[in-house]
Amino acid sequence: MILVLRDITDRLKTEQDLRAAQDELVRLAHTDYLTGIHNRRFFMQRLSEEVERVRRHGSQLSVLLFDLDYFKNVNDQCGHVAGDQILKAVADVSMEVKRVTDIAARIGGEEFALLLPETDQTGAVSTAQRLRQSIAGISLPQTREKNVNVTASIGVATVSAVSQDLENVLNHADEALYKAKHSGRNAVCCADISAST
Ligand code: GH3
Ligand code: MG
Ligand code: MG
Repeated sequence: MILVLRDITDRLKTEQDLRAAQDELVRLAHTDYLTGIHNRRFFMQRLSEEVERVRRHGSQLSVLLFDLDYFKNVNDQCGHVAGDQILKAVADVSMEVKRVTDIAARIGGEEFALLLPETDQTGAVSTAQRLRQSIAGISLPQTREKNVNVTASIGVATVSAVSQDLENVLNHADEALYKAKHSGRNAVCCADISAST
């Protein structure tokens, strides 16, 4: 009888390292490089999963889409580096305001989104108002010195299993955001989604 014993410590270590590297790649693919919160890719993926869940199992979901007001002016007055700091502060505020099961993401330059599973319009509007107030309360040395306000306009869309264009929830939030901008900014507006449209 021949018994062969082989030390596989190195192989196991290599496999573990490889798995860790793959996990890190996935994390990076889902993360916004500037703010560290989720990016558009991850948000869209989770949104389509949540939409599918609502379609199959009922219930509802809400999306908040928000865009910083006159951010070009903020950059012009405080500088691009300060602008980036503000974007990070807005991301931090979104993480503080949301529930554990909600998804916060930076989906464009100065545009962010919150996905609120199992949330009706009343709950979504109250989250949006808290978010709006918290963003308006952001105070960084750069904005204080120049007396610059940071505010956001927020569009809210809520859909349920009976909403026929469930998958268009983001477009509805975008239309509501447009209304919030036109109502004077630093505002929350809701999309008008009827069950049969
Ligand atoms: P509105 O209230 O209509 O949204 O006005 P706005 O000035 O925010 O809109 P506009 O689309 O004209 O400008 C967006 C600005 O956001 C311009 C751009 O310089 C700034 N921005 C986009 N991405 C970044 C970024 O990563 N860092 C910084 N500092 N600024 C950014
Ligand atoms: Mg914008
Ligand atoms: Mg803007």
